[in-house]
Amino acid sequence: MPQYKVAIVGAGPAGYFAAQALQNLQTDHLSFAIDMIERLPTPWGLVRSGVAPDHPKIKTVSKVFEKVATAEGFSLYGNVELGTDISIEVLKAKYDAVVIATGSATGKKLGIPGEDLSGSISAAQFVPWYNGHPDFADFNPELNCETAVVIGAGNVAMDVARMLALEPAELDETDTALHAIDVLRKSNIRKVVISARRGPEHAAFTSPELRDLPKLEHTNVLMHPEDIAAGLERAGEEPEKEVRNNLEAMRLISELEQGKHARTMEFQFLCTPKEFRGNGKVEEVVFTTSVGEEKVVKCGLVITAIGYEADPLAGIPYEKGKVLNSDGRVGENIYVVGWAKRGPSGVIGTNKSDAADVMNLLLADMTEPKPAAELTSLITTNKVISQSHWQSINAAEIAAGEPHGKPRVKAVTREELLRLGGLN
Ligand code: NAP
Repeated sequence: MPQYKVAIVGAGPAGYFAAQALQNLQTDHLSFAIDMIERLPTPWGLVRSGVAPDHPKIKTVSKVFEKVATAEGFSLYGNVELGTDISIEVLKAKYDAVVIATGSATGKKLGIPGEDLSGSISAAQFVPWYNGHPDFADFNPELNCETAVVIGAGNVAMDVARMLALEPAELDETDTALHAIDVLRKSNIRKVVISARRGPEHAAFTSPELRDLPKLEHTNVLMHPEDIAAGLERAGEEPEKEVRNNLEAMRLISELEQGKHARTMEFQFLCTPKEFRGNGKVEEVVFTTSVGEEKVVKCGLVITAIGYEADPLAGIPYEKGKVLNSDGRVGENIYVVGWAKRGPSGVIGTNKSDAADVMNLLLADMTEPKPAAELTSLITTNKVISQSHWQSINAAEIAAGEPHGKPRVKAVTREELLRLGGLN
């Protein structure tokens, strides 16, 4: 019976859904040996380091990932970096197929004056910092100002704004990194302005996220009724379902009673960022309004949440922040799935059908299987996190959370993660 060897690079949702799709393609006459390579000592990608900690339900998909990971023929190789510990050339030579599932991790830039001032950061730094990503353990955002501006009208902007505008005690029963809870507790920020360059009818927020906002118990959520009314008018008689649902959720927000709480999240629309100004650090953001006027918002922190780009991997062709591909095919025996393929769009579940489509192509391309590959002998590090090491880390984090009513307390540094895995 042919057994194809597939290396999946990246242990995020796209990688696991690709593995699951391959497992689903197995028959009595065909099987896959799947080696998943991940540069961090922990798997789950954005489910661990992207999803907002106050939205724990979204993280339950990790149960699916663990089911995939514990099925026969699957091996995790965590703490192994492509390009450092193993090369793409070796993977190509030893495996029947290589699937790139490395996502897109770098925040896009606005490209306007003042963007590099201190106090100007990207959601691509802030989000992994509050989620305990090892690479951002020392990233210390300064939250000692009264007003923060978040630029972008997508779900990431909304996550970031909510994290800044929440009463920090609401994070006590979440898996927010402890270092972030400490900093957020001391934060002086009381007003967070989310700024969209287009109208509410074009916002990229999704309606379940909008409908959650009125549930915030300690934060005023301010949308101006006239903005939403104008958006409804511009949307016309028969807007698409998603637009209609979004505008309805926004209309409900705009009717909320205001001013009860110390913290406020305010939405502004039709404001294009023009410049960040300040003496050595951000003091104000200058916008151009839809009628060409200048609007200035005084603030000490600005976070851009305007999308992501993929960091190029050596030996893989990239174009416009994505892996160059045709329906997921990259080149001879190389495939790509997830954000690295499509760009940063869609929710976690979007990756399931997307990965399944690419894995069908992969199977169609298979010919004679290569001889078995022994990945361990090809890797240059001996600190490899296997599935059982990861299970030790996972169990230790969950146990550390239990006395505090948290789902887990995340270990943040690589050293600590390796120690919990039994490797240090
Ligand atoms: P996104 O949904 O694509 O939103 C990006 C936003 O940035 C858009 O509003 C866009 O406005 C704006 N933007 C882009 N370039 C800009 C510029 N130069 N100046 C001003 N604004 C600019 O991206 P995202 O928020 O990073 O989210 C990525 C994906 O993850 C999305 O599919 C999202 O739904 C998903 N996600 C889901 C959840 C959840 O389900 N809870 C949470 C987080 C993320 P224009 O439309 O005008 O270009």
